[in-house]
Amino acid sequence: MTKNTVVAVNIVVAVDGPVAAGKGTLGRRLAADFNFAYLDTGGLYRAVALRMLRAGAALDDVETMVAQAKQVSLSDLDDPSLRDEEVGEAASVISPQPALRAALLDYQRNFAARPPKGAAGAVLDGRDIGTVICPDAQVKLFVTASVEARAERRYTELLRRGEAVDLGTIQADVAARDARDSERAASPLTAADDAHLLDTTKMDIEAAFQAAQKIVAACM
Ligand code: C5P
Repeated sequence: MTKNTVVAVNIVVAVDGPVAAGKGTLGRRLAADFNFAYLDTGGLYRAVALRMLRAGAALDDVETMVAQAKQVSLSDLDDPSLRDEEVGEAASVISPQPALRAALLDYQRNFAARPPKGAAGAVLDGRDIGTVICPDAQVKLFVTASVEARAERRYTELLRRGEAVDLGTIQADVAARDARDSERAASPLTAADDAHLLDTTKMDIEAAFQAAQKIVAACM
């Protein structure tokens, strides 16, 4: 390589945060805006959970969990059942398992290093992208909102999907999910030291997107 050769750098944007903070919508919009590939890593955990529920496997059956994780592909992420409350709950129950996290690690890192369709960058959203999966990501966002605001958003989303839900129950579920994701030993939910914090409690999606877009553009 000559001294002046320009090497194209693949940009990685890590978007982490608790359940229903708006990471998915933000991640998708950022990816579309910058022409990057997008990976919903929560979808990978949900896909394994859904496969286990459909197989009637116990949620502590690590062998089946790892075998299913190795078969997960991008097409799993299109299954509409992935967004069901029951599947999200099951994903949160299996996700602390270190063997499962290890089985999904390479898939996520490969996606970030070599995004599909030759995209110049990748946006990954999840819980541990900036801390464990892609600690060298050029941009790290930690998206949060109050438990009440997140429960309200989840409630509205589930109502729209026609699910019978109760706001109080959703709020308790969100708080329980936060506790499980933050207190687990393997890759707990936490902001990377160099993450930009984005509190969307009082923002609509447009304002959150504008703020995130500014941060990403400034880091590139
Ligand atoms: O983001 P989403 O709610 O779809 O994720 C479902 C569950 O998967 C989370 O509650 C969390 O336990 C787990 N998860 C994880 N690490 C990620 C993404 C999701 O442990 N990177």
